[in-house]
Amino acid sequence: MSCIFCRIVAGEVPAEVVAREPEVVAFLDVQPLADGHVLVVPRAHVAQLEDLEPAAADALFRAVVHLAGPVREALGAAGTTIGVNNGEATGQTVPHVHVHIVPRWPGDGAGSIHTIFPRRTKRTLPDVGAAIRARLE
Ligand code: AMP
Ligand code: ZN
Repeated sequence: MSCIFCRIVAGEVPAEVVAREPEVVAFLDVQPLADGHVLVVPRAHVAQLEDLEPAAADALFRAVVHLAGPVREALGAAGTTIGVNNGEATGQTVPHVHVHIVPRWPGDGAGSIHTIFPRRTKRTLPDVGAAIRARLE
């Protein structure tokens, strides 16, 4: 088993685990962006969010919702930035789905998710909306 998160889930690699549930494990990021930076992972090895089974997706999001308040309160934070690098092109370095929960404080020097993007759009909203709706049909 070469996946580092599978090995953490299996207990083969040490991690600061904060929650173990039937479908999900949560542990502290070893290179935290801030104190209390938590990673929430499905037990099943799946590389991208869209490949999660529905039950695993439900359990993952439920765990994120369940953890967000306690993580924020434990660190005395004002909020949390919650995000997923979904695919290698986005900067995902571990190909096992993981949700980052990062505590935030006023003036902590970090931006919102809007600060990631240079806003280089080319298409109109109706054009893009129609393209996505067509894929959902
Ligand atoms: P991403 O760039 O979204 O794939 O994030 C992967 C995260 O996993 C990074 O923030 C790493 O610091 C973290 N990470 C990598 N290896 C470990 C590990 N053994 N224990 C905890 N976190 C890890
Ligand atoms: Zn894995």
